[in-house]
Amino acid sequence: MKSRWVEREADAMVTHGAEMGIDRDLALRVYTTRLLGRDPKLVLHGGGNTSLKTRALDRLGAEVEVLRVKSSGSDMAAIEPEGMVAVRLEPMRQLRALPAIDDEELIRIERSNLLDPSAPNPSVEMMLHAFLPHKFVDHTHATPVLSVIDQPDGEKKCADVFGGRLGFVPYQMPGFGLAKKSIEVFERSKPTDGLILGKHGIVSFGDTARDSYERMIEMVTLAEEFIARRRKSVAFPARQSGITVAPIAPIVRGACSEKDERADGAWRRLVLDFRGGDAVLNFLNNNDLLRNSESGVITPDHTIRTKNWPLVLPAPQPGKLDHFASAARKAAEDFIARYHDYFERHNKRTGGIKRELDPLPRVVLVPGLGLFGLGRTKRDAVIAADLAETWVEGVAGAEAIGHFESISEADMFDVEYWPLEQKKLGARRELPLEGQIVAVTGAAGAIGAATARAFAAAGAEVALLDVNLAAASEQAETLSATALPLACDVTDPASVTAAFDKIAEEFGGVDIVVSNAGAAWQGRIGDVGEDILRKSFELNFYGHQRVAQAAVKIMLVQGTGGCLLFNVSKQAVNPGPNFGPYGIPKAALMALMRQYALDYGSDGIRANAVNADRIRSGLLTKEMIASRSKARGLSEKDYMSGNLLGREVTAEDVAQAFLHQALALKTTADVTTVDGGNIAAAMR
Ligand SMILES: [Zn+2]
Repeated sequence: MKSRWVEREADAMVTHGAEMGIDRDLALRVYTTRLLGRDPKLVLHGGGNTSLKTRALDRLGAEVEVLRVKSSGSDMAAIEPEGMVAVRLEPMRQLRALPAIDDEELIRIERSNLLDPSAPNPSVEMMLHAFLPHKFVDHTHATPVLSVIDQPDGEKKCADVFGGRLGFVPYQMPGFGLAKKSIEVFERSKPTDGLILGKHGIVSFGDTARDSYERMIEMVTLAEEFIARRRKSVAFPARQSGITVAPIAPIVRGACSEKDERADGAWRRLVLDFRGGDAVLNFLNNNDLLRNSESGVITPDHTIRTKNWPLVLPAPQPGKLDHFASAARKAAEDFIARYHDYFERHNKRTGGIKRELDPLPRVVLVPGLGLFGLGRTKRDAVIAADLAETWVEGVAGAEAIGHFESISEADMFDVEYWPLEQKKLGARRELPLEGQIVAVTGAAGAIGAATARAFAAAGAEVALLDVNLAAASEQAETLSATALPLACDVTDPASVTAAFDKIAEEFGGVDIVVSNAGAAWQGRIGDVGEDILRKSFELNFYGHQRVAQAAVKIMLVQGTGGCLLFNVSKQAVNPGPNFGPYGIPKAALMALMRQYALDYGSDGIRANAVNADRIRSGLLTKEMIASRSKARGLSEKDYMSGNLLGREVTAEDVAQAFLHQALALKTTADVTTVDGGNIAAAMR
């Protein structure tokens, strides 16, 4: 591993810091913290922490000695000076005299010594930084170091690799106890470069930011070289031919869901993120896969994101996906039962006051294909997959030099259910469509875009399908980092299939479809060309049928129900003159919706439609509004609000109607009218 320190960049940080009133030490502390944070082999997703001992003015202007330490759960790669929380150092040092201290009490003491009372909580490993005497202290969960220390003889391996330059602290749960143990080991063994925290990570220290950082890099390099010398060359990874992600992901996703007892018809679902690189495949083809998978995490704080074990599935065989599906469901049921049992046993041991977290797997291994990270959002799924890939790397490294061994099950439970770890995930309000995946067609148009926005705001992951990929991408960018724009021509069966395959690959499946793509053709029905009528049917009827069919196929594999929503139109019930080529396929579409409701109700798949009228969109352009209102002798405003309520109907109103239908678990075969009131178009 190379040092990423660049003198020119460091100078620029110092100069920039000086302009902002930040001194040299803090500027360089921020600089090297970012350097550590940018290397996934060192820290991932809020792991690791750094500190600086310095002097600062308190709120009354008195100079005091302070510890500036990373705030809990913040990302080192993007740390700012404010992210290094200032705590009065002397009172923290005095705490060493206490034999033990309650976590909540420790937080209260820490908070009452913050220089800025509104600052976030300091890292859970703050006391370790406070007790060590060094000006700069760096702590990471470097993967190669974990490979060396996650061993039955970790202490001996540590001596072999680092030759006494690092003191060895046997595993202890993070927090006050670990901090006390660490300073005892430091004072006894006087290591020159830092400490190993058994089965957890590494600490380096120094008088300057650069020293401490480069010691970290040097130690990690020693570990890397030690492993590289012993790693056997690996065979070509065996990918199972004829097995792809698109059909497998919905099987995995369905197996890893459970009924939500809070409402009949509701499910707890997860979003998937797939990884199928050579390192992952090699690992999955290894004979020791099962033993390694049972062993646990490579460092304790991963457990809140990945759980302690992955779910291991049998290798799927081409042409036998039904077998794979039933084996996957059975394996997931066993996993869930085992998790309940694990919780029960350890909750009893620790006083029976914990509340069980959801028991669904967060990492799924599929030999011959790859691994899936699972989460309530795509972002959480990506984090789980990142940590799972790092776990694969760490375990493979450990196996190359000995045998991988993690902390005990009881230790894992104590970390998983430690309130301070759970706090790292943040208190998040659960959104109504969290864990659900929605596909919107015609997503670049006014109604499609508004609908995609409404579903994303309700917590769903959204795929935006449109013939115009550039326009769909533009909309996706305004939604979220995880929104997926896709080119899809609903009049082309291959294009629809490809789009739904991509949705399954990206998110794991689909739960809700808003089939919205459409266009209007006109002509007096007695003399309109058949080609016009066919074109309109192709888009306004068959387009919806293809999309619904592709979605239902995935929904049935998942086995967790689903929802089909169609944009019909008031034309389906109240035809306009010379508008037959548009209204007739829309009338057929309403029948299509009812047929889906009828044929798939027993599978928990609902089908509903929205009848909207007079919305500013690609179907009703500015020019059309101008000419039509003029022809009727009305102002544009009066024309647009020419309904019983006298209110203009917007794309957002239609989007909210779709959202309502998606949330109404007891409603199917429903047509919701969103037109401000038009008695001739009212449903009977
Ligand atoms: Zn740590």
